Amino acid sequence: MTARIVIIGGGQAGGWAAKTLRDKGWQGEIAIVADEPWDFYERPPLSKAALLDDEPLLPRLFSEEVQQGLNLTWHRPQRAESIDPQARTVTLDSGERLAYDQLLIATGGSARLPGPHWADHPQVYTLRHWQDACRLKARLRDGLRLGIVGGGWIGLEIAASARARGAAVTIFEQQPALCMRSVGPEVSAYLQTLHQQQGADVRCGCGAIELEDSGGQPVIYCDGVREIFDAVVVGIGVDLNLALARQAGLRVECGIVVDPRGRTSDPHIFAAGDVAQHPQFGVCIQSWAFAQNQAVATAKTMLDAAAPGYDEIPWLWSDQYQNNIQILGIPDPESRMIVRHDAKGPLFFSLAPDGRLRQLVAFNDARTVKLAKRWMAAGRDLRDAPLGDPQFSLMSLR
Ligand code: NAP
Repeated sequence: MTARIVIIGGGQAGGWAAKTLRDKGWQGEIAIVADEPWDFYERPPLSKAALLDDEPLLPRLFSEEVQQGLNLTWHRPQRAESIDPQARTVTLDSGERLAYDQLLIATGGSARLPGPHWADHPQVYTLRHWQDACRLKARLRDGLRLGIVGGGWIGLEIAASARARGAAVTIFEQQPALCMRSVGPEVSAYLQTLHQQQGADVRCGCGAIELEDSGGQPVIYCDGVREIFDAVVVGIGVDLNLALARQAGLRVECGIVVDPRGRTSDPHIFAAGDVAQHPQFGVCIQSWAFAQNQAVATAKTMLDAAAPGYDEIPWLWSDQYQNNIQILGIPDPESRMIVRHDAKGPLFFSLAPDGRLRQLVAFNDARTVKLAKRWMAAGRDLRDAPLGDPQFSLMSLR
């Protein structure tokens, strides 16, 4: 029997794992179980180019030619229903049972809603899949009254795209500040000003939100006020698809617990992307870079146990209006914030008491992010560096 690796999940992590397995010489079968009908595609453009371009194309991960060359056995659109770790099989919703030598779980997450009835309203949107972006794009137009529930990264990116298309945007965030779980209060305040300057109405600390209907139009009821919109987009986070991992008896905390090699508590099962907990930081990093690079590292170690594992510092980027925002590291409440205002945009340095950089949020400054990656990796003490002085050359700290 041919050796077989099964990958559950046809997203960015599943795609990069499949490609890496072939690039590294895996000759056996690669079976992909995917619940979407599309080839692998990237998600970052869904909130940007897919909403802004006149005729957006599926943002494929690989060209048709490259993908053909991977020689994959697709099971799509199908869902994996259960895993039997003893028998080493995956059962699909069609009833088919796939035996595996190694299994990679890359099942990602599903867009959350404040309540189940939100899904029934025809003018309530989420943005997770290609067809979600197509549906929302078809609705965006000049003067559309768009309510956005959730002031996280999805909400803010959609707000920027919707403003560019002339929509009137109101953002409802239940926390007292935007993107509060991933950046410090100074960055949240800057983001809020940015969006307000672009004409978005930002309501933080908005309390419980309810959805009502008025003649087919969604009504947001919040803090005693009812507001009618033409459409409402919800970006309040994702529920990670962890049911299979739990059913298989794998160790699960906020995500599937993996070592730096992507291996779960079962030696034949690996996990990658959103569902895999960061092996060093113990959090789930739902970013493009993690989905790609942790999947690549995991695929390598599936073929060669001696391959180096994944040890990258969390990094994500977001494009909003004319700004490229890069976030390196994770927030640390013990840290001191130093803000530097450069002509390109601000830099927010979050320094731990021992002088180590815990997080950098950089507006339009990829060069400093690159440099900061090296400071972080080296554990450099930056206590004496005048980071906030725009006259001081950060490059002198190379
Ligand atoms: P997110 O970044 O976690 O933000 C969701 C925000 O909505 C949170 O502040 C959340 O507050 C708030 N919220 C939750 N329930 C709410 C409610 N009922 N009413 C109003 N606000 C509510 O999630 P997301 O923006 O949906 O994005 C999903 C995932 O994809 C995230 O992990 C995100 O980091 C990732 N993503 C990354 C990028 C990028 O890398 N550029 C872009 C898009 C998305 P609580 O924290 O209290 O729940």
